[in-house]
Amino acid sequence: MKDISQKLIEQMLCDRRTLHRRPELGWTEFEASSYVADRLNCLNIDFKVGGEFLDIPSVQGRSEQEVQKAIKRALAHGVPESFIERTQGYTGIVGFFDTKKPGPTIAIRADLDAVPVQESSDPSHEAVKGDYASAFPGVMHACGHDAHTSILLALAEWIVQNKEDLCGKFKFVFQPAEEGVRGGLAVANGGVVDDVDELLCFHIGSKCKLGEIGICEKGFLATTKLNVSFEGVPAHAGSNPEAGKSALLAACNAATLIAGIPRHSGGLTRVCVGKLIAGESRNVIPAHASMEIETRGETAELDKFMVENVKRIVTSSAAAFDLTAKVEIIGSAVNLETDKEISLKLQEIAEANNLAEKVTYHNDVPASEDCTWLIKRVREKGGKAGYFMFGCNNNGHHKSDFSIQDESTLPVGLKMLKQYVVARCSAE
Ligand SMILES: [Zn+2]
Repeated sequence: MKDISQKLIEQMLCDRRTLHRRPELGWTEFEASSYVADRLNCLNIDFKVGGEFLDIPSVQGRSEQEVQKAIKRALAHGVPESFIERTQGYTGIVGFFDTKKPGPTIAIRADLDAVPVQESSDPSHEAVKGDYASAFPGVMHACGHDAHTSILLALAEWIVQNKEDLCGKFKFVFQPAEEGVRGGLAVANGGVVDDVDELLCFHIGSKCKLGEIGICEKGFLATTKLNVSFEGVPAHAGSNPEAGKSALLAACNAATLIAGIPRHSGGLTRVCVGKLIAGESRNVIPAHASMEIETRGETAELDKFMVENVKRIVTSSAAAFDLTAKVEIIGSAVNLETDKEISLKLQEIAEANNLAEKVTYHNDVPASEDCTWLIKRVREKGGKAGYFMFGCNNNGHHKSDFSIQDESTLPVGLKMLKQYVVARCSAE
């Protein structure tokens, strides 16, 4: 089996920087999907895009207006119309490669989307120094998903280069809309990982510094993202206030009541009313209010407890002020549960190949990740799954100066995946 060539590493870094320049928010990753499609085409890897593999009713938090804007921009930037048509308006891409030799079916999942953050223009910022900073105002790959995508492309290329020595089948899952946990459910429910024996998911940075590899067996929280709107009745605040029904007051009451949802003895819970906008002007009884809320729980049951309480409070606040309310779920993830066997394999690979100074277990990450939907699906169908992190030195994810030292970090992620493939799929 060939080792990873310097040329492949250079290609991977080039991919990452190209993707970094043109970051796209969840459900608008048409350029990134098309970029991946071009590369898979060159490798003779079959693929399905967007609407061809997603379960459309399970799509969460997608704005048709934003999608249409992104399609126009992608077309202007040279993405072929035939490709856009093939997506049916939905981003994401899955590559399929069969070595035609009996062996396991392995899926590896990366995510495609960026974050609504303005990238730093400080001359000392990595992407500014390297001349690959975001070309899109207000959008940035500030979570390293550009790194994930390029690593998975490099792995696909290495697998094709070494197909004679490998067995089994591979699925390269480039998931849309991880931010806001919006895309994972539609990928999982689309069934693309149903026949998978083993699924690997990974993330750059997070709890790990450069030189560390982290393994997660559990710990990401189940979460639900809710948009709430109250619809009241406007009226002149001086001449006939009795005719009005205040959406603002209903929303404010709901916000304070939500903060009073009891903590649960069964495990960790969280709730946050992160945004509340209400009212039209000083002298009008406010007819409209909207809120952005999220809940989290150590298990899906605990998250459900929080969601049910939020819904009850919204409905009863609306009733108290004699107006109507709507609750829309725009994102969700379950908690992480992986398989010991895969975690041990990942640990063994990291240690045996000197891929880290330190291999640690992180089973208490209080964030959320929607690859958990894919992991849950694979395990329900009898497969196994694992999750690892490889470190970088950064000042915090989703921040304008997020940096990843790609030359040092990306090869570690690629080698972890490649060694896993060597361990599981070497032909007899
Ligand atoms: Zn991320």
